[in-house]
Amino acid sequence: MTDTDCIFCKIVAGDIPSTKVLETERVLAFRDLYPKAPTHILVVPKDHYADTAAIAAADPQLTGELLNTAAEIAAAEGLAESGWRLIANTGPDSGQEVGHVHFHVLGGKPLGPMVS
Ligand code: IMP
Repeated sequence: MTDTDCIFCKIVAGDIPSTKVLETERVLAFRDLYPKAPTHILVVPKDHYADTAAIAAADPQLTGELLNTAAEIAAAEGLAESGWRLIANTGPDSGQEVGHVHFHVLGGKPLGPMVS
């Protein structure tokens, strides 16, 4: 499933370059172009789902694989002890900018409290 107008589908297809961190049959992780922390990696399914609600409803197994991948990456980035943050913006009020579900893995410095 691909959306021809989707920037992350283009990254998955290799039409837009990215700094890949990890790739499996169904999942791709790459560094955020505008990092908000020393480690800022995006974990996405290769198939196009609009957001967390859509993928959770359609494919719980793939949703779990995204979470496992995020944890693997955090450990590989050396964040297991210091901790890390996982964010999945979903819908307009969250500020979601890219309509292809993605988990942000953030860490490498104290991140402060979540916004209210
Ligand atoms: P959102 O606000 O949760 O949708 O996050 C979208 C993220 O995608 C932002 O952190 C952007 O910096 C990031 N981003 C946008 N375009 C690219 C790109 O081409 N490569 C890597 N990251 C990108």
